[in-house]
Amino acid sequence: MNKAIYAVYGTSGCGRGIMPLARRQLVKEGISNDQLFFLDDNIPAESINGNRVLSYSEFLAMPASSRYAVIAIANSAIRERLADRLFSDEVQPWSVRAHNLVIMDHVSLGEGAVLSPFVTLTSNIRIGRYFHANLYSYVEHDCEIGSFVTFAPGVMCNGNVVIEDHVYIGTGVVIKQGKPGKPLIIGRGAVVGMGAVVTKDVPAGMVVVGNPARILVR
Ligand code: UDP
Repeated sequence: MNKAIYAVYGTSGCGRGIMPLARRQLVKEGISNDQLFFLDDNIPAESINGNRVLSYSEFLAMPASSRYAVIAIANSAIRERLADRLFSDEVQPWSVRAHNLVIMDHVSLGEGAVLSPFVTLTSNIRIGRYFHANLYSYVEHDCEIGSFVTFAPGVMCNGNVVIEDHVYIGTGVVIKQGKPGKPLIIGRGAVVGMGAVVTKDVPAGMVVVGNPARILVR
């Protein structure tokens, strides 16, 4: 009988960081490492860190009872395009969560999330589809996070913050707490540069940097 197969889509930095989490997660579920593959549209090698690399067509052609893939690519536009592609080929979205992830109370999380080691999600939080939270990031109480949002390592997202779809938050960013009924809002597609301290709303599509974070005029 055919078995389910699993893939980490992307073989670059993000993919190679997520693969060991995926491997460990499957072992816990009693699923063998030979059912787990890298998937990439530009195959860099036959095998990486002990897992075979397949092209997308090879992955679809492998005999399997079902197929799962986690999209391990930081660029949110690519993530959305590949999510649509996987959906249309009936590949199931897969979430990968580090063993030491902390999820506290009433957290709703959409499909396809990647939650890296030492991530903490506290209480009363809603998060959309295909969220990436990299190493040591946290989301505090009463936050609302859209879909295809990406946190680089060490993002400190304090309470009562709204982050809209396709926002990218750089390494070590601190986001000031909003107020109940008046959250701090980071608008759709905004980019917050590494190390910024966000003290007020960020308009959609803007790039902000610095402390306090200001719009980067290019
Ligand atoms: N990639 C892919 N299909 C796409 C776009 C990207 O397979 O449509 C792969 C690409 O070949 C590369 C990885 O995804 O291996 C993205 O790597 P990059 O270093 O750009 O991103 P990161 O790993 O930092 O998210």
